Amino acid sequence: MRIGVPKEIKNNEFRVGLTPESVSEFVARGHTVLVETQAGMGIGAADDAYRAVGADIADTATDVFASSDMIIKVKEPLAPERAMLREGQILFTYLHLAPDPEQTQDLMKSGAVCIAYETVTDRTGGLPLLKPMSQVAGRLAVQAGASALEKAKGGRGVLIGGVPGVRASRVVVIGGGVVGFNAAQMAVGMHADVTILDRNPDVLERLATHFEAGANTVYSTRATLEQEIAQADLVIGAVLVPGSAAPKLITREMLSIMQPGAVMVDVAIDQGGCFETSKPTTHDAPTYVVDDIVHYCVANMPGAVARTSTYALNNATLPHALRIADKGWKDALRSDPHLTAGLNVWNGKVTCEAVAESLKLDL
Ligand code: NAD
Repeated sequence: MRIGVPKEIKNNEFRVGLTPESVSEFVARGHTVLVETQAGMGIGAADDAYRAVGADIADTATDVFASSDMIIKVKEPLAPERAMLREGQILFTYLHLAPDPEQTQDLMKSGAVCIAYETVTDRTGGLPLLKPMSQVAGRLAVQAGASALEKAKGGRGVLIGGVPGVRASRVVVIGGGVVGFNAAQMAVGMHADVTILDRNPDVLERLATHFEAGANTVYSTRATLEQEIAQADLVIGAVLVPGSAAPKLITREMLSIMQPGAVMVDVAIDQGGCFETSKPTTHDAPTYVVDDIVHYCVANMPGAVARTSTYALNNATLPHALRIADKGWKDALRSDPHLTAGLNVWNGKVTCEAVAESLKLDL
């Protein structure tokens, strides 16, 4: 199969679909790989590193899209990229279609076979291709939140772990899945006073067993959420209802009970955000203030640590991508219901139930 790797064009997105090491796996199996020039610069991989493992280098994204059977990317295709997709071409990348009707319509019109990383499942019911980026984003959320709490950045001017004689900051994590667990791990490690809310009793039990006295676990209701955010310095939104738009758990009205200068990091922004006042921001201008509360809503957080993120992502995506290349997409999906769960758009239609439901489209 001819595999194409374009350079990412989203603001400050430095990740790349395939590392040179991954490319060498495709080449070893007889596939050809065309990489857009400079695509790997953000992770420190020059064109020569790709040439050394057998890739060809293309001058433009147009060349990559025109001559590839499967496009492997990181972020959802932006409008100019969507215009280059063609019927029957495979697109394997993050899509996050539920909050994005415009992209969904373009992908339907393209006739491409669109397999989204974020809805591929595994035997335990987890989302293995979302997991590595969630691990990165969860860990970064605390770093970003700690920085935004600094006075010069608009925050309350509190140090996340306090110092002897001055209490540590209160960190509230909403959603105790992969993002929430990793955020809590970092916040506990920085000696913050950490509370994690979730609605799944099994999740709460796992967290309580893991953190013991290091973090509080609380069943999430509107009332418990209000109690926790009223005292919080940093609130991290990390909920997910797979494939659906995130529920708006903190309304604008609720901001008035929070402490001025508190920080909210909405990691779930890629699913529309779990705070009513969230709107996507970029690494260039990551924060804004609403009613004295600092909001950080970067939709592609892992792009900030592109090298770590690209390698972590490739560790998870490579086996699937190789199977699609070796068998063709139809046989690969037929033999693996978990990969089938990744199919979001095919033959001009949305094929993922949760996406169709969110956008009120027919399956
Ligand atoms: P996950 O499925 O592992 O965890 C989500 C948790 O949310 C689950 O434990 C679930 O029980 C809980 N939950 C659902 N509804 C809830 C509610 N109403 N109240 C409290 N808890 C609730 O998902 P994850 O991998 O941790 O991802 C979380 C979000 O972060 C997703 O939207 C994901 O797309 C996003 N994400 C964003 C970035 C970014 O760069 N912004 C990067 C990675 C992941």
